[in-house]
This record gives sequence, C-alpha cells and structure tokens, in this order.
Amino acid sequence: MFVSAIIVAAGSGRRLGMRTPKAFVRLAGRPMFEHSLRTFSNAGTIEQLVLVVPPRHRFGKAGLLKRYPKLTAFVPGGAERADSVRAGLAAVSPKAKLVLVHDAARPLVRREDIAAVVRAAARHRAAVLAEPASDTIKRADRGFIQATLNRDYLWRAQTPQGFDLKLLKRAYRAPSRKPTDDSALAEALGVRVALVTASGPNIKITTRTDLEYAAWLLGKRR
Ligand code: C5P
Repeated sequence: MFVSAIIVAAGSGRRLGMRTPKAFVRLAGRPMFEHSLRTFSNAGTIEQLVLVVPPRHRFGKAGLLKRYPKLTAFVPGGAERADSVRAGLAAVSPKAKLVLVHDAARPLVRREDIAAVVRAAARHRAAVLAEPASDTIKRADRGFIQATLNRDYLWRAQTPQGFDLKLLKRAYRAPSRKPTDDSALAEALGVRVALVTASGPNIKITTRTDLEYAAWLLGKRR
C-alpha cells in the first residue's frame, strides 16, 4: 500500500524564544526537523515524504533531497498549523492510499510507532498515536476547579496521525476549520478514530527545557 507522510515544520515556535524557526533549531547535531525526516525515511512503510517549511526561511534543500530520496517536495506553510497541513496535502502523490501527518516538533518519534499508526490507519481509516493521561486532569474556570475528569477516558494525542487520504482531504475541505490536530477534523465527520499507544517518550518541543530534555533522551538512545 502506498503511504505518504507530511512533516509540518512551518511554525515559528515563539515560546522557544529563538530567532530561528523552531523546527530548524539544532538538536543533537542536526536541525530538529531532520530527526523526524530521518526516522520516516527509514520506515519501510513510507514511500513519499512532504516537508512543509516556513515560507521565507532559507536552508540547504539540495543536500536534503540527496540524503532523503523519499522526500519529493518542500511546501511553504501557512499562518496556522491547519493551513500548513492543507498545503502539504496538495503535494501528496495521488498514488497514496494513506497519509500520515507528523509535527517536526516531535523529533523523538520511533519507527515502530510509525509502523503501528500505518497498520491501524489501514484497518480503521484513521488512527492517532497517543499516551494515556498519567495526571489527574481538572476542568477549571478562572482559577477554580469545576470538575475532576475520569482519567480512564483521557489520552494525550500526539503525532503521527494517519488517515485514508481521501478522508483527510474531505476533512480539510472546509476552509474555516482551525483544529489543533488533524484527528479533530475526522472526528467532526463522525469517523471513529483508533488510538495507538506510543511505545516511548514522544514529547513535543515547546520550551528550552523540552529541547534540553530531548537532547538528553536522544543521547541516551544512541
Ligand atoms: O506550535 P506547535 O508546536 O503546536 O506546532 C506543531 C507543529 O506544527 C510544529 O512542527 C510546527 O512547525 C507546525 N506548524 C506549521 N505551521 C504553522 C504552525 C505550526 O507547520 N503555521
């Protein structure tokens, strides 16, 4: 089955407090996005890679195309994540049956989790890598707790998230929708989205502390 992956790397990452766009900040010897690019490239199930990048950021494209032959396109991203995913979708090969969407801000993604998301998406049309909530989560309003949610039902959604290509394209057709993940759009169409439990840490880099933690985890993995 032909599977494509879109890696979204077009965010600015203001909370990191650096001039360089977040996905281009160096982490353990290479730009952050290249960790995901490498892992997806090495995943046997993936046939095509699309990288969505900040429109005005200059970087060495030729070298990347040489190192990662599955990479077929650099696509300029949009103002919000959803705009970037929509732009990436336009560059996905029409041969693709499934598409995975992954945040470059999650450089620790593992090959086996990519394979597991592909398997679940092939079976259920939509699947999300996730982790069961380990904290007790409260719903609150203006500093006071309104309710304690039942942890047995709570998961932290991550990426990659995998979908039948036609389904995700349909989900993204409504231009006004600005979800924080792709699954939310599939859910809005009434699709049952499968959860795939992550096999290890797959943190999202937001702060400098996250960056240091990710560097440490990558160092330990080697
Ligand atoms: O900002 P945040 O970390 O939540 O973004 C998640 C992912 O989406 C990051 O990999 C980021 O580069 C990407 N993104 C994007 N285009 C945007 C905003 C975020 O590709 N306009």
